[in-house]
This record gives sequence, structure tokens and C-alpha cells, in this order.
Amino acid sequence: MKHTKQKKHTAKKRTHSCVPTTDRITKKEAQTMLKTADILDLGLTADNMRKRLHPEGIVSFVVDRNINYTNVCINKCTFCAFWRDKDDQDAYILDRETLFEKIEETLGLGGTQILIQGGLHPELGIDYYVDLLRSIKDRFEINIHGFSPPEICYIADSSDLTIQETLHILKDAGLDSVPGGGAEILSDRIREILSPRKIKSSRWLKVMETAHGLGMRTTATMMFGSIESPEDIITHLDAIRELQDRTGGFTAFIPWSFQPGNTELIQNSRFKIQKSVTAVEYLKVLALSRIYLDNIDNIQASWVTQGLKLAQVSLRFGANDFGSTMIEENVVASTGVSFKTSKHEIIKTIRAAGFIPAQRDTCYNILRTYEEGV
Ligand code: SF4
Repeated sequence: MKHTKQKKHTAKKRTHSCVPTTDRITKKEAQTMLKTADILDLGLTADNMRKRLHPEGIVSFVVDRNINYTNVCINKCTFCAFWRDKDDQDAYILDRETLFEKIEETLGLGGTQILIQGGLHPELGIDYYVDLLRSIKDRFEINIHGFSPPEICYIADSSDLTIQETLHILKDAGLDSVPGGGAEILSDRIREILSPRKIKSSRWLKVMETAHGLGMRTTATMMFGSIESPEDIITHLDAIRELQDRTGGFTAFIPWSFQPGNTELIQNSRFKIQKSVTAVEYLKVLALSRIYLDNIDNIQASWVTQGLKLAQVSLRFGANDFGSTMIEENVVASTGVSFKTSKHEIIKTIRAAGFIPAQRDTCYNILRTYEEGV
């Protein structure tokens, strides 16, 4: 099933020399913008585009919890501090009782979704995932947003199934939508260095295209600020835009910056990384994402990696969504970055920036607005 293609949105004509005055911007224009545009020019263009797409001034968020069913992962990506070997003392597979308690707590807090992701565990096949999904759906009414493309490919390969068969089986068992994790930068030159065992760009895109074809909505992400060049960022954005033109299945784009703490990428001097992404770099990439991805409705601010204050500023640089309340988050926290917040704090932060806070569901349908009071 194809999703209805989203209408094309065009950038307002501007007179600044490095911000294009044509409709859809080209790769070349985007590269120039990323390298030379003034941050406020970029922000204003992105903010104007956000206003055209979301004229009601709503900034949404979802109440959910990240549940990591295992931290065992054979990929061992250099930028990841979360993975463990199977025999490590703190390696785990989450037991069902703990899983159900976490879901009950999420529902009790008004949650509508769980984001369920884990490592690539060599002993878990398709039966484990089917049983996991069914056991949740038998007990709870909650949306399962789960298993990023690297997990789906690993399940497929280890169970001798195609991507299409795997997604079909998982969907039948209760998987509702697919998160855009594992994209990092969709350039195989970069992936070969960051995560040589991970699926290549074409397979990441193939999983998303297949999921869209089965009627499942997905998000798209980008992790930047490690070893990529501006050209690699544009290559990534272009691959997402091109697929969205064909399927319309992405609900949102979520750019977030590499968090270096406890990762091989920062500890091993051969990678020559010395610093984290600055606030200015983050805002420029965020704004450019809004401008370039004219066929994706929602751009998410990443308070988990940038903190609440910069996420608040992001709302004037193209973002219209505050992501999740993240009742629990373990992957970014394993790098030593642990911004915490609550639904109340998110509502206050959005309102203080001049927007109407609204709780949404996984597909960005508004469930409730908070025009006054919490
Ligand atoms: S980023 Fe994902 S695939 Fe890579 S090591 Fe961490 S858990 Fe595994």
C-alpha cells in the first residue's frame, strides 16, 4: 500500500545571496548553504517553512518510553557505548515481568507508545520477536514502535527470511511502526569507518521502503558530528528526500549529534575526533534539514542530546516536534549524557517559547493540546 504523497512545500523567496530563491533546493545549493550561510538566514528560512507547514503554532510531543530488550550486540559500532558482549557481566535480555511492569508504568503516565529496540543478539531469532510482540499486544493497548533497520535485517538474515517476509511476520505479530535508528550517515564511505559490520545505506533504505509498502509508517534519523563532511550530510538528506518522494511513509526526520562519551570513536586517536558538535553546528544542520526535506511534515528537536534550552531554540530553527518524554532512555545515557525531563517540563518549555504544546500519537495525530494549565 502506498501512502498518500505529501504535498510539496516550497521555500519562500529570499534575497540573501547564499539562501536559494528557487523552489526545491538542489544538493549543490544545500552544500553551499551548510558551508557558508549565515545561521540566522538559515534559521529564518527554516522557521518560515515551519510556519507554512504548521500555521497553528502547535509543537507536539509523545509520551513514551524506550525499552531496550537486550544490550548484547555483535555490531560493536565505534560510536556506541551501549553494546555488550554476550558473556559480559552486565549483558542482559529483559525478562517479561520487567518488560510488562515498564509498559504498565508507561500507560499509567498517559503513554501511548513504547519504542522497543536492542542490539543484534546472536541467539535471538524471529520466534523470539514474534513472541515478544504478541505477549505485549495480548496484554496492553499500546503502539509498538520498534526494531530499527539493522535489527530487522539481522532477524531476516539469521532466520533465513527476506526483509519483506520479516516485516510481514512482525507486523502480523503486532509491530505498528518502525523507528529510523541505525541510519547514522547514509554514506557507505562513512559507515565503513563508523560501523563496518552494520548494514549498508541501501539496505537501510530498503527496509524503510518495504515497511512503507506494507503500510507501516516510519521515522528517519541522522547522527552527525563525527567524521562526516558537509557533502555526506547532504547525501543523507537527499536519500531520505528521494525515498519520501516515492513512498510518503516517513512521519518525521530526527537529526541528532554524535555523543562522544565512553565510545571507541573518541577514545581511539586514529579517528582524530576532538570535540562535540557545537550549538551553532546543531542548529544549522537542523535548519537545513527543515529546508531540504520539503516533503516531510515533521522535524524533531533532540532535547535528549542538546538539552531543553537548545531544544527550545530549535523551535525557531525549523523543529515543530519535541520528541518524546522518554520515561526511560539508556542508549544516549550510556555515553554519559543524561538530560532528564518530565511531561510538565516539556509543556512549560514549549509554551515559554511561544507555542501551543500538544500531546500526539506515533503518527503525529494530536491527542490533546495544553493551551493553558498542564
Ligand atoms: S549502535 Fe546499535 S548496532 Fe551499533 S553497536 Fe550500538 S546497539 Fe549495536
